[in-house]
Amino acid sequence: MEDFRLATNGAIRAGLQAGVTSRNALNKLVYKDFREEHPGLYAKHLVSAFEVAAGILKNHRRQLKRSRTGQAVHTPFVKRLMMKAENQAYKLDRKEGIVDLPVRAGLHIKCKLVVSQYHRRYLDDEAWSLGSLTLLPDKVVIAFRRIPPKPYAPRSVLSLDTNEKSLDGVFIREGSGVAVWAGFPDVAIIQQRHHDRRKRLQKKKTNDRRTARALCKREGKREHNRVEYRLHQVADTILSFAKSHESAIVLEDLTGIKHKKNKDMNRRLSMWPRRNLHRIIEYKAEDKGIPIIKVDPRYSSKKCPICGTVQYSRMGAEFKCECGWHMDRHINASINLLQTASSKGLAGGLRFDPGAFRHDAMMILYEPAMAARSEPNGMSEDVVMPP
Ligand SMILES: [Zn+2]
Repeated sequence: MEDFRLATNGAIRAGLQAGVTSRNALNKLVYKDFREEHPGLYAKHLVSAFEVAAGILKNHRRQLKRSRTGQAVHTPFVKRLMMKAENQAYKLDRKEGIVDLPVRAGLHIKCKLVVSQYHRRYLDDEAWSLGSLTLLPDKVVIAFRRIPPKPYAPRSVLSLDTNEKSLDGVFIREGSGVAVWAGFPDVAIIQQRHHDRRKRLQKKKTNDRRTARALCKREGKREHNRVEYRLHQVADTILSFAKSHESAIVLEDLTGIKHKKNKDMNRRLSMWPRRNLHRIIEYKAEDKGIPIIKVDPRYSSKKCPICGTVQYSRMGAEFKCECGWHMDRHINASINLLQTASSKGLAGGLRFDPGAFRHDAMMILYEPAMAARSEPNGMSEDVVMPP
């Protein structure tokens, strides 16, 4: 690990000097010299040292770009002990859970992994092929990968508008539809609580910035875990619903959306969970073969899905149009997202009519109180759909 760290840091320095950030460029630049300088390192590991270095260099370049006006950016280097091996550079006995890692000619390290039932799921399933191995002082991380199943042709659509405390939307199939809701009000509460706590810590430890920083970091980690846990629950519930109804999921593309220049810290905190929820939904959907349709959210909150009029004035909780259409603001947005998706033929040729949409019922896909129960209430068929 020390050799690997040395080689990585050497490659970072060389990359900085030559202004290159790709693995191949680094390889060309320093491979020969490094072979002589690091005779203790297996050649294949040297290449992964370049890859790690390239990743760090790219990150560094991004930081430089971002902070053109701001504070100085530190010269990057790897501080903690680690090493990475590509999948051809080590062997894993999947049955026994023994890793065979060559270090240099004639010297191999073998380590027995602690294999739980969770690990067995991946080890025993040949569809999961081996990715890279990362060795840390206290653990071994092995990546597994799989070609995801082909998404099914949807028979229904779940269109969701993403808001600060909930996903609001519609579930549409065979010409009828119902409003759906998945709430995560506790996420904002957790964020607020941790934000306050961090503020307090900083105030209390004004004379000891190092301790303050360490404590804040710990707080941040806890907050992250708590939020992440809830988002996974929301995502799992939505995905199992979608899977059981063979739905496609329509989401807005959040990538272009920036925080409004707002002094309010709450606003700035609130974008991350939403993006993260999308990320979780997307990768889990891919794994389950559930089609995800991302659409441009422009005008989705301001347009009337019946007559197409765009309203620029601010509105309350309800969207009202001159043509007579009125609908909960968030649900209205999700109908617009669905319309954008289907007008582009993305929703698998499914057609729907906002007029056939049932207003008086709301199906609850998820709420925090349900977390303890195994079967969410609103999901039983007879409650869900009109006859
Ligand atoms: Zn209208």
